[in-house]
Amino acid sequence: MPNVIDVGDVTARRGELKKGVIKGIELVNNVSIDIPVLVMNGVEEGPTLLLMSTQHGTEIQGIEVIRRVMRERLNPKSLRGAVIGIPVGNPLAFMHHQYLSWIDNLDVGRVRADMPRGNTTERLAYALWVEAWSKADLIVNIHCNTRPDSLIYQAINIANSKTREKLERMAEAFGVTTIVYDTPISEDAPPTLGNMAVRKGVPVILGELIDGRWISEPSTSVGVRGVLNIMRVFDMIKGEAEPQRGFPIVPGVNRSYGIVRANRGGLIRFFKKPGELIMQGEVLAEIYDLYGDIIEEVKMPVEGYVWAYPCGQSLGTSGSLQAVQIGANIAYAFTHEKG
Ligand SMILES: [Zn+2]
Repeated sequence: MPNVIDVGDVTARRGELKKGVIKGIELVNNVSIDIPVLVMNGVEEGPTLLLMSTQHGTEIQGIEVIRRVMRERLNPKSLRGAVIGIPVGNPLAFMHHQYLSWIDNLDVGRVRADMPRGNTTERLAYALWVEAWSKADLIVNIHCNTRPDSLIYQAINIANSKTREKLERMAEAFGVTTIVYDTPISEDAPPTLGNMAVRKGVPVILGELIDGRWISEPSTSVGVRGVLNIMRVFDMIKGEAEPQRGFPIVPGVNRSYGIVRANRGGLIRFFKKPGELIMQGEVLAEIYDLYGDIIEEVKMPVEGYVWAYPCGQSLGTSGSLQAVQIGANIAYAFTHEKG
């Protein structure tokens, strides 16, 4: 951690909390859409932690998590290391209450982040990389599922030896249901923000809170507790990690199974709660038509759990209507492996 941290137009010296912007993109009328950033530089040596929320514009709980952590809980005079807070990672999505950038329908976390002369969302990703992601030692990327009955979880990819140990420590500290991915990043995988961080050896944990369109409990408390726990475990602040509580947790190691999709269109109702054990073949939802006739019983493909019912949400659509078209995402399923 250097004596002075520069992020965008912010310069934070030791013991300071500063705010400002990372220069973003320019619209047709020359209005600049920049990325607000908070930078807290501690008084002692330690890692630089990046907290980013709202890569997807309709997932706003992390904005409040970052506010509480950086404006209420942390004090730069007792911090070891530094914290960079980006409340809204994709301002083009957020400004129109959309999941993706309204200009090109792209995801700032999935496009190339190495293209200073790229398309609009690629330039936002590049700005995020150069000014923030490339300066971090630990990254927490906060997302949310839409429905409040979803299961709060975290996803980590343990396939990379350079980041595995730190990621597992971060996950244990954050303390919610862990979904493990084990997919090495191939040589030709695109240089997204996440892939570039992993190649650099920087662990990125993805935290998925719930009720993403609102600022509500338990998401904010869980997020704040989880972030502070990571900071305690990495010795950025004093104290023991505080156990998570007040919401369901599936312990141990869990793996993503895949998406359960609709084979018919219509309205849908659910019978199983996210986080509740479901046997293979059990009916977890049913789809009915506008006349009221049941036209599909949706069965669990494997013994395991559901973490959320995105309810027809897919990239580029806002979802959140309790209705599905054929092929829509009904449920994200996962299996319990051990522990
Ligand atoms: Zn998201």
